[in-house]
Amino acid sequence: MNAPAPDENCLFCKIVAGEIPARIVHASDHSVAFRDVNPQAPTHVLVVPKDHYANAGEVAQHAPTMAADLITTARDVAAQEGLDNGYRLVFNTGEDAGQTVFHVHLHLLGGRSLEWPPG
Ligand code: 5GP
Ligand code: ZN
Repeated sequence: MNAPAPDENCLFCKIVAGEIPARIVHASDHSVAFRDVNPQAPTHVLVVPKDHYANAGEVAQHAPTMAADLITTARDVAAQEGLDNGYRLVFNTGEDAGQTVFHVHLHLLGGRSLEWPPG
């Protein structure tokens, strides 16, 4: 399958294109990592593929190498942020999980003790 075209109504496609500013902490040929505008932990970074996929299942099905790239990028950003004591990776999928932006993004959370189970 060819890479999907950018979605002109998608917030994260606009961040990837540089049309909306973001505090970028890492970028590669395939992905961009930037700080969440409403952080839920001392480190809260979103890792997104440059290509538009709606959710984690879609990117894993159509671009499995990209799905793995999101996770290794999150690992590298966690190391860069000094999260040696641990961190959490989250893909919210669908409304019941609280997904609000339908361009897949991996939440990287760390820098404090995180409770389980989530709300
Ligand atoms: P979701 O709820 O879809 O899993 O996560 C979307 C995330 O995007 C939220 O944590 C929200 O704070 C973040 N967000 C929404 N709009 C913006 C924005 O314009 N810039 C940045 N950096 N983050 C955003
Ligand atoms: Zn998008």
